[in-house]
Amino acid sequence: MRLFDAVLFDRDGTLIEDRPYNGDPEAVLPMPGAKQALDRLRSRGLKTGVVSNQSGIGRGLVSAEQVESVNRRVEELLGPFDCWHTCPHAPDAGCACRKPNPGLIRRAAATLGTTPGRCVVVGDIDSDVQAALACGALPLMVPTEATRVAEVATAPAVVRDLTGAADWVLARMDAVQAEQLAPSGRHVLAVRTDGAGDLLLCGPAIRAIAHRAARVTVWAGQQNRVAARLLPGVDEVVTHPLPWIDARPRPFHFERVVESVGALGVDEAIVFTSYHQSALPTALVLREAGVPRVSAISADYPGSLLDVRHRVPDDLPEPVRALSLAAAAGYPLPSTDDGHLRVVLQGVERGSHVVLHPGGSAPARACSPKVAAEFARRLRRAGYPVYVTGSAAERPLTAQVAVDGAVDLGGRTNFARLAKLLAGAACLVTGNTGPAHLASAVGTPVVSLFAPTIAFGRWGPYRTAVVRLGDQLAACRDTRALQCPVPGHPCLDGIDPDEVVRAVGRLVR
Ligand SMILES: [Zn+2]
Repeated sequence: MRLFDAVLFDRDGTLIEDRPYNGDPEAVLPMPGAKQALDRLRSRGLKTGVVSNQSGIGRGLVSAEQVESVNRRVEELLGPFDCWHTCPHAPDAGCACRKPNPGLIRRAAATLGTTPGRCVVVGDIDSDVQAALACGALPLMVPTEATRVAEVATAPAVVRDLTGAADWVLARMDAVQAEQLAPSGRHVLAVRTDGAGDLLLCGPAIRAIAHRAARVTVWAGQQNRVAARLLPGVDEVVTHPLPWIDARPRPFHFERVVESVGALGVDEAIVFTSYHQSALPTALVLREAGVPRVSAISADYPGSLLDVRHRVPDDLPEPVRALSLAAAAGYPLPSTDDGHLRVVLQGVERGSHVVLHPGGSAPARACSPKVAAEFARRLRRAGYPVYVTGSAAERPLTAQVAVDGAVDLGGRTNFARLAKLLAGAACLVTGNTGPAHLASAVGTPVVSLFAPTIAFGRWGPYRTAVVRLGDQLAACRDTRALQCPVPGHPCLDGIDPDEVVRAVGRLVR
């Protein structure tokens, strides 16, 4: 299975040195390592394309023919690209193709017979990153000396040069390859007990297992057992919370769990974790239960607890991290599977409503109620039907947020109903929490109010159209804080409500 189909490059400042409004083919100078990087990507079967803003045409500073002759020179120097997509419009033309709009990337993906979610977009400035996010492509920044410091700091992924870009892409592709296939027909236990969102991010890996296995049992926790039933490929769900994993640990009855896991009679188990969690206590339980083969990612020495001890780069997006583990255990994703997040859901028609989910699994990752209520008010004023969602425990919150005719659905959506509501929505507005991943799984765009306490590149919405809001350079950055450590919660409460309306407008048009 290939993780990506194509790598799309910005032209000026990325593939070639930036000479503003250059119409002279003789002045084209490739960036260092460009040819070798492209050749390495092409030799691995990846398509390459160029997505370039050329507003000089719209401004009358350079002709379309001149731009074309420069493009031909680029191909002479760097080899043939599978597609070229250029925006000729001036910035004030209001077109849908000029980056940071995603039009060029969407067109390129269609030309190449793929989807933006299976494309990497390499560029040197923030508008390349935004354009990629706005259609679900994976952005990779290769800054130049001209790139602003803040743009580099907020990019989800950054490498030094095009050699680094090729390394980055190929390392991710290699990470999901299997060296050896597991025997088919096994009964496999997949363990993931924390949030519903965390489990959704493991969905592609669970489908990979299901492709070769005869039976897949998911070992879930209290919070994600309903989600587990909606994942394609899952035959059975068992629930045992794990106190060394779960945010609110419950008592653990070691012998009882060992006995009931043993009674499942599985052939092997794969323990999914995030990088800050340890798989080893779970592996001990599985060993005690007599599970013959146990696989997990572990930086810590596992001794005899693991049969497959897997190591990964620690900046992989969570779904890729999980796919990598499944592959290491002998379960690569088949090429017939596109690797997107997915849930089992019958046909739901896309409507025009916006879902606002103000709560979150951690307070640091949610806006204050007053701020969220203002988002609802402005969205209503802009004419959107708005549904405010939350758990039963979040009813006081949703009641406070659902103002001006926004519908309060607090406590009235279980996981399956929320999936349907999101599948029919034009857009979801939420923090970094389970529903963002559920929206990704049903292909709904997300305005992500993303507190930078954890890395967007790992936990941001996966392969769905996203506008990311929130101060990514706030003092809470990378703290993993559950409660915001900064007075006034500036990373999220500083978001301008009109920015939210504009972001929704960008995603639904
Ligand atoms: Zn355009």
